[in-house]
Amino acid sequence: MKNPVWTTIDFDAPGIQSDFARVPHSSDTSAYGWIPVPMLCLNGGRGGPTALFTAGTHGDEYEGQVALRKLVHDLAKTKLQGRVIILPALNRPAVAAGRRNSPLDGGNLNRVFPGDLQGGPTAVIAHYVATELFPLADVIIDLHSGGSSLDYLPMALAHPGRNETEAEAVRRLLTSFGAPYSALTDGAGGGAGATLYAAAEQAGIPAITTELGSGSTLSEAGLAIAESGVRRVLRDYGIAPDFDAPEGRTIRFARFLGRGDTIYSPCDGLFEPFVKPGEQVAPGQKAGAIHRLDNALARPIELEFPSSGIVAFRRFPTLTSTGDALFGLMVEAQN
Ligand SMILES: [Zn+2]
Repeated sequence: MKNPVWTTIDFDAPGIQSDFARVPHSSDTSAYGWIPVPMLCLNGGRGGPTALFTAGTHGDEYEGQVALRKLVHDLAKTKLQGRVIILPALNRPAVAAGRRNSPLDGGNLNRVFPGDLQGGPTAVIAHYVATELFPLADVIIDLHSGGSSLDYLPMALAHPGRNETEAEAVRRLLTSFGAPYSALTDGAGGGAGATLYAAAEQAGIPAITTELGSGSTLSEAGLAIAESGVRRVLRDYGIAPDFDAPEGRTIRFARFLGRGDTIYSPCDGLFEPFVKPGEQVAPGQKAGAIHRLDNALARPIELEFPSSGIVAFRRFPTLTSTGDALFGLMVEAQN
């Protein structure tokens, strides 16, 4: 079945077009209406590769949303040798609500790929991206951050590719983007195969995602990584050859440790962390404590790191429930 999402954008037409991915949504107040997911197409009209950049896949992650909105203005002044398709607020209902997930259907857009036409608006957006936009794209970047619940070490992440050719293409993209850390992952700690970048891997398109900030605010450092990264990629892939971007950065490759090395909260309470993202930790080192809500006399529950590694993320809010991920670890790797 053809995706019901529509747009006035003609992706083959040269120049700048701004419209929406118009996602039909029949509500109490709008029987025949559509959700306006902002979409821009900048086409140099001379052939060349296509970059697909998305942000706002989670509505409460802001560095990517702002970086892509700023990028549009720079691209408008630059000669393009290819095409750039930008959706800076991919889950528009979640962005408008300042929430990770859509208030319309509770959908987590980075957990429903490759999408479902029978699902709610979130699954329909995923289906549109996977079936209509992926076939146009040669390179894909989906910009995320820690959002409301996580404090993240700034990094780029990618699935490793299904063969050596794809692995090489992924390494090229990670190197060009140039985040301080680049991690290869199977996504097991997060959305596994249901994320945008996992679906892109299955479509054979080199794709990366990012983690660029902490809490539902804008990190200056994370924004700078996003802005310089997308500019470098557009330059290195020959789409915006005149773009300048800072060089001289050091890229370290890393690998996430699995669930067994992730610390989850054993009870409800107040989370007191003892270390920050980026710190190197050792087995048995104190990670933090949980102060029980209901018994102030009880000793806090102390948590220890099960293995050595670099703290990739920690929980951001203090109020914590059983099962919340408190710390995740990664190790440096040769790639
Ligand atoms: Zn996210």
